[in-house]
Amino acid sequence: MNDPEQMKERKRPFLTEEKAREIARKYPTPFHVYDERKIRNHIENINRAFSWNKGYRQYFAVKANPNPYLLRIMKEYDWGCDCSSMTELILAKELGFDGSHIMFSSNCTPAEEYAFANKIGGIINLDDFTDVAGLEKTVGRLPETICCRYNPGGVFQLSNGIMDTPGEAKYGMTKDQILTAFALMKGKGVKRFGLHAFLASNTVTNEYYPKLAEILFRLAVEIKTAIGIDISFVDLSGGVGLAYKPQDIPNDILTIGESVRQVYEKILIPAGLENVAIYTEMGRFAMGDCGALITKVVHEKHTYKEYVGCDACASNLMRPMLYRAYHHITVLGKENEDCNCKYDVTGSLCENSDKFAVDRMLPKIEIGDLLYIHDTGAHGHSMGYQYNGKLRSAEILLKEDGSYQLIRRAETVKDYFATLDFSDILSNITGKKGEQNE
Ligand SMILES: *Cc1c(COP(=O)(O)O)cnc(C)c1O
Repeated sequence: MNDPEQMKERKRPFLTEEKAREIARKYPTPFHVYDERKIRNHIENINRAFSWNKGYRQYFAVKANPNPYLLRIMKEYDWGCDCSSMTELILAKELGFDGSHIMFSSNCTPAEEYAFANKIGGIINLDDFTDVAGLEKTVGRLPETICCRYNPGGVFQLSNGIMDTPGEAKYGMTKDQILTAFALMKGKGVKRFGLHAFLASNTVTNEYYPKLAEILFRLAVEIKTAIGIDISFVDLSGGVGLAYKPQDIPNDILTIGESVRQVYEKILIPAGLENVAIYTEMGRFAMGDCGALITKVVHEKHTYKEYVGCDACASNLMRPMLYRAYHHITVLGKENEDCNCKYDVTGSLCENSDKFAVDRMLPKIEIGDLLYIHDTGAHGHSMGYQYNGKLRSAEILLKEDGSYQLIRRAETVKDYFATLDFSDILSNITGKKGEQNE
């Protein structure tokens, strides 16, 4: 199953060294680049996987990659946006997503965000029982459609050993709270109810969605029996994982969709719940492998270990620093060379954890080589930050015809200073008004 050729094939860059250098001549490294063909291909596959379900809709988790150009591509395929903050809601609205295409799955939510989500007609997904009263107080009359986030507690385990601990997670309501909330909201005129849960992150197995669906479908049946509410939709949220490592077997969304269908037929149909729409909020699986971070090797260092330093750092891609996450690295132009040198691949932050890879076997690297850091299309640029005064990079869209487009420019020092007003500081130093200081 895991022969080296297959592993290599899985981790083949979507652009050549030549193309990367062509782009870099115009937009200096580092930059994130996205492959439009791959994006469209993924979208079509995801839609096909759930085409058996009449009301199916995918709401892309905007936090994974909030670039408007990419969201606009998704919009062509009738996808919606899954938002969790005011800014994301505004972004979705400005891009022309209507209320039925906006899911608001937030937690610890400020009242004004609920008010805005309600104003633009988005579907509100309540994280906590107290949000029912909070929302009513904020918007006056509860919207016709409301979703509640479920947390079954305990440990969630899949047969390949993947587990997560919903009991430790801050999200969602207990079963009793959901039942009470639904009965309460029904009395207050809510017409359409949804159930949502996110129980494990980055699951590299086709088993996750079907297992989650089973839990939520059974709860839907229980709700119907106990309080006579027919659930309108079940939102499976995100959590479908990415094969970050070459030895990981990638998820197959068509298999996943078909398995969810089987659970649907087994549990919902016999209970008379044959009109339940399935929603998803995939971020990582939809976009992760459609993006790469291109960075130039600018330094090498030989001390107790072999280091190569690049012009990107954790400001551009935090996952390795934050989660010790694995991101595969290809040295562009050396795809077929033996990986017989061991390196730590570092950025320039004054943090020892600023390493894209530790003890990674790679071909012999020279200064000037371009590294292709895989799978940065989700939770990559969007997690960037400005620690150490490092600035976030540009984003480039590689189009199907081989041309490319700058879809977000790199930050400049001016952006970094944009939230500051220097005039006081300068006048304190010089005794003059800032603008007179020369
Ligand atoms: C983060 C998040 C997602 C997306 O998760 P992925 O693992 O990227 O698919 C979806 N829904 C909610 C509510 C989230 O917080």
